[in-house]
Amino acid sequence: MTPATITLRPQQTLAASAEVFGFGFWSGRDIRLEFRPAEPNTGIVFVRTDTVVPLHIPAKVRNRIEQPRRTTLVRRDLVSGETAVEMVEHVLAALAALQVDNAEVWCDSAEMPGCDGSSLAFVEAIDRVGVVTQDAVRPQLRVTEPLRVGDANAWVEAKPCQNETYSVRYELDYGPGPIGQQDYQTDVTPDTFRSELAAARTFVLEAEARYLHDQGLGHRVTARDIIVFDDHGPVDNHLRFDDECPRHKALDIVGDLALAGCDLVGEFTGFQSGHRLNAALVAELLKAETIIDRKAA
Ligand SMILES: [Zn+2]
Repeated sequence: MTPATITLRPQQTLAASAEVFGFGFWSGRDIRLEFRPAEPNTGIVFVRTDTVVPLHIPAKVRNRIEQPRRTTLVRRDLVSGETAVEMVEHVLAALAALQVDNAEVWCDSAEMPGCDGSSLAFVEAIDRVGVVTQDAVRPQLRVTEPLRVGDANAWVEAKPCQNETYSVRYELDYGPGPIGQQDYQTDVTPDTFRSELAAARTFVLEAEARYLHDQGLGHRVTARDIIVFDDHGPVDNHLRFDDECPRHKALDIVGDLALAGCDLVGEFTGFQSGHRLNAALVAELLKAETIIDRKAA
């Protein structure tokens, strides 16, 4: 498709502010999060309000630092030092999939509310107030060449697509056991995200959960809050979907790819991959591809 025939949609923001309360799974700290409308071309910007002055942290891949099992963004400046927002991926997935392009995310603690380990609470908050279109077009990145990061054990790749969609696929292989080998694919739209991905929850293996507890992490989290798998299946819990695990991994990809800061057109597939590789793919895509940011004349 030539650029002359590409249609860019208008940017959107929230019609009003919306709140989510909860606690961080890692830190156990209470947090109040507030989504606020923002001007065109703002993008998604986290705002820490528990600091001396409010500190803005744009949701861009250049602000990401590596932390285990979650996506963390930081800003560094001489006055305030390093200020972080942690576990932003489920918040970003909801905003990106529901096409909320411009918003401030005010938060009075570093770690986002874990809620039920999915994006559901954020989708519900956004849908309570709705979105409005703005007088600017949403930039778009179209995958024109296959691109893969990772190795044979874990990789994530982007490929061109023929039908103008943003599709996400995830394949996992946990070997013998209750999770086993599964894959899941969907075209990401606001409706498919609401019905297929938003409610898919974080999962961990029982041994990992025990290790994290021993490290003093996740002490407020129970097996009712996320899915903990032992050798037989979910402990003290029930799956919302038979393939809830690859669905959640697809949700994580949507959240991490939101760090591109634009719409995506292409087929994205992850195999055993996580936040680090998802972010590496975003960085490579931004180097390799051109972002289309205006309508053809
Ligand atoms: Zn996740």
